[in-house]
Amino acid sequence: MKQTAAVLGGDMRQVYLARLLLEDGIDAVTWGLERGDGPNPVPLHQALEAGLLILPLPVCRAGSLNLPLTDTALSAEQLWPRLRYDQLLLGGMTGELAPRLMADFGLTLLDYYDREETQVANAVPTAEGAIQLAMEATEETIHGSRCLVVGYGRIGKLLAERLQALGASVAVAARSYRDLAWIAAKGYEGLATAGLAGKLGRFDLIFNTVPAPLFDAERLEEMAKDCLLLDLASAPGGADPAVAKRAGRRVLCAPGLPGRVAPRSAAKAIRDSIYHILEERGEPI
Ligand code: NAP
Repeated sequence: MKQTAAVLGGDMRQVYLARLLLEDGIDAVTWGLERGDGPNPVPLHQALEAGLLILPLPVCRAGSLNLPLTDTALSAEQLWPRLRYDQLLLGGMTGELAPRLMADFGLTLLDYYDREETQVANAVPTAEGAIQLAMEATEETIHGSRCLVVGYGRIGKLLAERLQALGASVAVAARSYRDLAWIAAKGYEGLATAGLAGKLGRFDLIFNTVPAPLFDAERLEEMAKDCLLLDLASAPGGADPAVAKRAGRRVLCAPGLPGRVAPRSAAKAIRDSIYHILEERGEPI
């Protein structure tokens, strides 16, 4: 890649990302990362001249560019008209934004997060961070605890094997016979996700990875009083903390763990994803 890359806003992941790009010899500048000590800071007009613009994850919050590390605000709708069609924009969790930017401004926005390799890489710090939070929020060891992991996707798989390695007794809930066969083969107790009613009372820790409202008031009331439910699934998650509070049960929502517990690792996953995108476009580093 011979062009300049500008990292525009974001959190500590983007700070580490800019450092990693520079370590790789890429001509990278930053804007909007002052509080994270982003390297090579430049004024906005200069950053916007770069051929590759790396936007935050998620790109926007409440209509503005996602800028948690600066006091400056930048309205997204004021930013787009300032960009050129020959620039490549990369952002995280871009959703409906990419087709709209193409239709309204002729801008190409690609998603560095919506790729399998990035999500697998992110599942590692998520699983580690979930265990870190569980250790901090409870008075007992993971060893000897009765854990239920709900969902056997990327995070569920990595979490279950880590809990087992720490000496927990591990049950995993899944909905496909294929997953239940793997769960049995790995030596975990298998439960059907749709059949959890009446089976929750014996767990010390429940880790939910299913992005669906599985834990209603009835399920929450079934949990033991001192059980902790860590909700890892993206908003709105599997349990409503307000309902849990009324039921006198402990639910801890834990979004964004890669960025919180391992921002440098999360940045490496984003960097690799960016390199893969460029390689696929025939513009390798
Ligand atoms: P994944 O690989 O897609 O796994 C999701 C699991 O949930 C699969 O076992 C899937 O079953 C199951 N599932 C989905 N919808 C279901 C439903 N309606 N009923 C029952 N089971 C259902 O996803 P992942 O990468 O493990 O991520 C899990 C969640 O964590 C996502 O919401 C993701 O956005 C979020 N996440 C959180 C963090 C964090 O820091 N907390 C970090 C990264 C991701 P099938 O395979 O049968 O479909």
